[in-house]
Amino acid sequence: MTIAGRVPRRGRALSRLGIIRDGAVLVHEGTIAAVGTTAKLEKLAAARKAEKLDVGGRVILPGFVDSHTHLIHAASRAEEYELKIRGASYEEIARKGGGILNSVKKLRAATSEQLRRRANAALEIFAAHGTTTIEAKSGYGLDVASELKILSLHKELGAAQPIEIVSTFLGAHVVPPEFRAKAEGPSEYVKLLTDWLIPEVAANGLAEYCDVFCDRGAFSRAQSKQILAAGWENSLVPRLHAEQLTHTGATQLAVELGAASCDHLEQVNGTDIRALAKSNTVATLLPGCDFHLGLKQYAPARKLIDAGAIVGLATDYNPGTSPTASMPMVLSLACTQLRMTPAEAIVAATYNAAYSLGRHKRIGSIEVGKQADLAVFEVEDYREIPYYFGVNTCWLTLKSGRVIYAAI
Ligand SMILES: [Zn+2]
Repeated sequence: MTIAGRVPRRGRALSRLGIIRDGAVLVHEGTIAAVGTTAKLEKLAAARKAEKLDVGGRVILPGFVDSHTHLIHAASRAEEYELKIRGASYEEIARKGGGILNSVKKLRAATSEQLRRRANAALEIFAAHGTTTIEAKSGYGLDVASELKILSLHKELGAAQPIEIVSTFLGAHVVPPEFRAKAEGPSEYVKLLTDWLIPEVAANGLAEYCDVFCDRGAFSRAQSKQILAAGWENSLVPRLHAEQLTHTGATQLAVELGAASCDHLEQVNGTDIRALAKSNTVATLLPGCDFHLGLKQYAPARKLIDAGAIVGLATDYNPGTSPTASMPMVLSLACTQLRMTPAEAIVAATYNAAYSLGRHKRIGSIEVGKQADLAVFEVEDYREIPYYFGVNTCWLTLKSGRVIYAAI
């Protein structure tokens, strides 16, 4: 399927796949030179000279664009997984020094080499599930040196391996422990972000986006506004963790600021949905998070789609709430829990996700002139990609025309 056409996709256009039966793609120097039926492409002189890669009737789609991940972290939080199963809530664990602060402690103690090794292993798993571009957020360092260490790794890894990495500064993940002892600590930390870290990150070209975790126990709407405004002043485009655990008004803020994306949205209300529908801010849904935490309330995807919001999907790959790099698993959850159709889920995970990262002119669909980022699945019908869950049907992944994963 090509998913060719206009983007962003809203409402009924979200399920437009552009299926070509017995299709073929001609790639020249990493770029798509022609797309059409095999019979049509075989007539092209350039195709006759080209090296052939027969995918044997399998389904080809654009490589997944995972627009929300926390790639760099030091360790899993499997011990908290068990505590949660025994009944502790995510917020209870956080109050006892677990949660994000647990990951912060481990990241600060880790060397760049340890972090690089873990991230590289994860990037191979992303590729093995058909993902060719990811967004990656900092946010487990929360001090100047550690945040810069993470962002530098984004840059380094982006250059050293094939998956494209879009870097986001999330210094405002939570208030770090050393700023929690006194009443004015949180506002001092916000000042450190706005007056020091954000300009430093921007001056060194270490991020394109600035994100804030706006929720109870993290940052208020007013603090989020201050941080994202400082980001904007330094040319860092806002993204926002919004309405995940509680309703804070973060969605309205994201729309007001012209954020590229507003993510989570489990607690959105009707006013938020209408505001998103009128905006160009992508509503990025992260069902892996609710699944892993065992939460019953998923984001109201149907209402968002029917109202005309631009819906995207991502893994939220992170050690605390969504330890998966599998977009096919996210598609399965989108179908069964968010009631999205397989076609809607695929477009949300490719073209709309590329739009949320400002890369829709280059990736997200299979069209002439675009980068040859392709994923081939060992299925006969695209609906089988989410239908088979808990197994990986990805057969081949190509980045700029080069094979980066092969199942055999
Ligand atoms: Zn997140």
